[in-house]
Amino acid sequence: MDEFGQLCYEISNCKNCDLSYSRRRSVCGFGDQNANIMIIGEAPGTKEDIEGLPFVGRSGALLDRVLAQCGLSRKDLYITNSVRCKPPFGKAPRSEHIKACSSYLAREITLLKPAVIVPMGNTAISALCAVLKFRTGKVTEMNGKILRLGEYLIIPQFHPAAILRSPKREEVFRENFHRIASIGREIKDKGIEQVVSTRGLELVNL
Ligand code: SF4
Repeated sequence: MDEFGQLCYEISNCKNCDLSYSRRRSVCGFGDQNANIMIIGEAPGTKEDIEGLPFVGRSGALLDRVLAQCGLSRKDLYITNSVRCKPPFGKAPRSEHIKACSSYLAREITLLKPAVIVPMGNTAISALCAVLKFRTGKVTEMNGKILRLGEYLIIPQFHPAAILRSPKREEVFRENFHRIASIGREIKDKGIEQVVSTRGLELVNL
């Protein structure tokens, strides 16, 4: 079993918080284990809880459509969640759930070493801040900004569920992913330092 397989095995059997009692299936990260873009969502919903895969409900359909419009598929990326088990009654995960699950996110980042990390929504921003030990604002303030933290570019986005609730945000959501896709491709070819300097990226240094 490789290291991602071992991680998924541990997540599947995890009982570190009370969500383990109500879940049907834990949801492991999914995608290319060599991807340089990592997307972080919130928590599994009903369909994800049944199928054991991230973003397979309506939010996932929207995400797939927008990624395709940007020349990406989820197989080009690594997609994970802040919390790996479904919270009850469609509620957002609580801070103790995010904390209990944070070591899995930390290990995924260590294994994947993504150049670009895209936390989608406030839960993902909080989870990432806790793991990488930085502070930033809410998604309404930080959406689409490029934050530089050591070897990572962090580009917060709205969660697709927020786009479903407020479709007027979809255009900006798509523009952000266009930029994320092209930055990811350029980093593969030229490395992060070269991309930052030649593109003249406006960075928020953390
Ligand atoms: S949400 Fe995370 S910490 Fe809680 S039981 Fe599931 S995998 Fe474990």
